[in-house]
Amino acid sequence: MSDSTLTPAAQFRATAPGELFPLAPSLWAHTAVPAVSTPALGASCTADVVIVGAGYAGLSTACHLAKNGVNVVVLEAREPGWGGSGRNGGQIIPGLKYDPDELEARFGAEAGRAVAAFAGSTTEHVFRMIDTEKLAVPHVRHGWVQGAHNDAALHTVESRMRQWERRGLKGAQLLDAAQVRNLLGTQAYKGGWLDPRAGGLQPLTYARELARVAMASGARIFGQTPVTGWQREGNAWKVNTALGPHVTARTVIVCTNAYTRELSSKLSSTVITPNSYQLSTAPLTAQQAESVMPGGQVSSDTRNLLLYFRKDHTGRLLMGGRGPFRQPASNNDWAHLERAVVKMFPQLAGIAFDHRWCGHVSVTRDFLPHVHEPEPGLLINIGCMGRGVALETAMGDALARYTLTRDVRALPFPLTRISPIPFHGLQRLYLAAVVSWYRMRDAGLL
Ligand SMILES: Cc1cc2nc3c(=O)[nH]c(=O)nc-3n(C[C@H](O)[C@H](O)[C@H](O)COP(=O)(O)OP(=O)(O)OC[C@H]3O[C@@H](n4cnc5c(N)ncnc54)[C@H](O)[C@@H]3O)c2cc1C
Repeated sequence: MSDSTLTPAAQFRATAPGELFPLAPSLWAHTAVPAVSTPALGASCTADVVIVGAGYAGLSTACHLAKNGVNVVVLEAREPGWGGSGRNGGQIIPGLKYDPDELEARFGAEAGRAVAAFAGSTTEHVFRMIDTEKLAVPHVRHGWVQGAHNDAALHTVESRMRQWERRGLKGAQLLDAAQVRNLLGTQAYKGGWLDPRAGGLQPLTYARELARVAMASGARIFGQTPVTGWQREGNAWKVNTALGPHVTARTVIVCTNAYTRELSSKLSSTVITPNSYQLSTAPLTAQQAESVMPGGQVSSDTRNLLLYFRKDHTGRLLMGGRGPFRQPASNNDWAHLERAVVKMFPQLAGIAFDHRWCGHVSVTRDFLPHVHEPEPGLLINIGCMGRGVALETAMGDALARYTLTRDVRALPFPLTRISPIPFHGLQRLYLAAVVSWYRMRDAGLL
């Protein structure tokens, strides 16, 4: 394949290393461990595998490959964790958009069982990685409370929980309104369920620790090195960068996810990339902390335009949800989340908010993660539906195993064709319509 198939948009400026793209000014950037040094690619080199993008997917793949003796180079346009992996809510939640029964209906009994088993196991990959590699990342594992916002949603969460229980989940709990109130400290929900597989972490520290482990295992990570495209050269791929030097390798793995736009307009038009907004309160007082999420769970609700929230290791409450598609213009773009904090937790009325940030999530047309291999040795991983901490860590394991074995059974999802969404250029309009429709559904008007 030549560059023309996945047209590189090549919108990166070839500036001096270190001058490109600072980190988003988030709570995470403020409280993370220092980044490992990942200097820009200074000279052309060869490798067995080149990974494009140093988020959880790229870094986890690099860790697994390097530990298996593979010569890996990771090329990252900015720095490890710059994308979704350094900005997310830090909620380590299993599962996909679809519940296990739906997955079996969609993929067939046997393949669907395997997809559901993978979806249910993703959080294990994160906690195992933290334990075995002794990652210095603040984390907890007290479960995920999914609050039901109306009566219909109570049935949804009960069905979801029972489906996982039939597949062996232990320790889940169906919660009534009072139990949710006791765990979360809010009266906002009619009930819900507790999924014990879940937890929370400092997301940017996690990305930086994955980078440290990948490098300690032998991977070379080059930051501030935007990839502009690739072309076949004999049995190998020549991966070009905006800085000039290139890397030659038998296998290329693209892990740019919601931030694919500058790399390939064709690939990025297979996903819609809404902005997710988040803010954090000032650290809670001891009294406030006792009444707000005292159980230490992470939480999100059953709305289509959901709210996600938790307390972090610094004692702040974080609240996240939808926001304008465009980049934020002022603090007003987070005003709806400030209101949500006080509406859900009236005991926090008047609290100050100290960090506001946002980032793109990637949503595919069928709401499933996509893996493509348009040509042998060119592997693409894209689509997280806003739930990628556990998913992309686990995908890294799968992508590495597939690269090592060439056995498609290593992949949790079938390889599919790259299929751009029609009229993708209108995604802003499309998103605005979907948001209005979802808003009415969440309010019970549809
Ligand atoms: C605000 C927000 C909140 C979220 N909350 C949660 C949550 O609580 N729980 C959860 O599970 N998920 C959450 N998510 C989703 C999760 O963060 C992502 O699914 C996950 O981080 C994606 O990881 P990734 O490795 O696939 O991609 P990313 O982390 O986005 O990494 C892609 C990388 O590719 C690089 N790149 C792009 N183009 C090039 C190029 N041409 N050359 C080289 N490098 C390039 C980018 O700089 C970037 O670093 C959230 C996302 C956001 C934005």
